[in-house]
Amino acid sequence: RFITFEGPDGAGKTSVLTALVPRLKALAQVPLIETREPGGNPISEAIRQIILDPKNTAMDPRTEALLYTAARRQHIIEKIRPALAANKLVLCDRFVDSSLAYQGAGREIGVAEVAQMNLFATEALQPDLTLYLDVPSEVGLARISAHRPDQNDRLDQEALSFHQKVRGEYLQLAKDNPQRIKVIDATQAIEQVIAACQTLVTASFPE
Ligand code: C5P
Ligand code: MG
Repeated sequence: RFITFEGPDGAGKTSVLTALVPRLKALAQVPLIETREPGGNPISEAIRQIILDPKNTAMDPRTEALLYTAARRQHIIEKIRPALAANKLVLCDRFVDSSLAYQGAGREIGVAEVAQMNLFATEALQPDLTLYLDVPSEVGLARISAHRPDQNDRLDQEALSFHQKVRGEYLQLAKDNPQRIKVIDATQAIEQVIAACQTLVTASFPE
């Protein structure tokens, strides 16, 4: 099974996954691997550095979308597909939905075009389940400046309106794919968010 975690900046994905993964490892009947985008292997991590480098202010939105998608492709080939083929449970921090939200909506390339490009890269590989950690943009941004004052990602310089477009698209995707995408209120205390994620993931385990 393939399970992805999505959310706007400051939703708490990283903190939640850090606590959740060891618990799921203890509960899952099958081997479990945790991985993240846009990384997870040397080629993809190198691409990630290019994307996030604050010096790369000249980066065109479509270049950015192509780089994320290239990193995703390599990640699928090297890591995700082999693990799924070996019947492992794969937990992935971000996947195609991030590109739809950030590049499609946030950068205004258009969701349909970004989806089309991703189809080329994924050959239609889709998550079985996606946990979307939802947080209002103001709350997410406030958390980032409070807890990550040293961050200097190129993406961290975006305005509130950018983050609102990203969140708006995530909510739209959740509305359009209610079977696959489960929305979790990430304004709750972290323990509650972790518990909600755990319930949803374990409910998807095969009997
Ligand atoms: O999930 P994580 O915080 O590691 O993401 C790193 C950065 O990349 C974030 O600032 C996020 O907003 C950005 N990002 C993006 N487009 C994507 C995926 C992530 O702009 N498709
Ligand atoms: Mg970040």
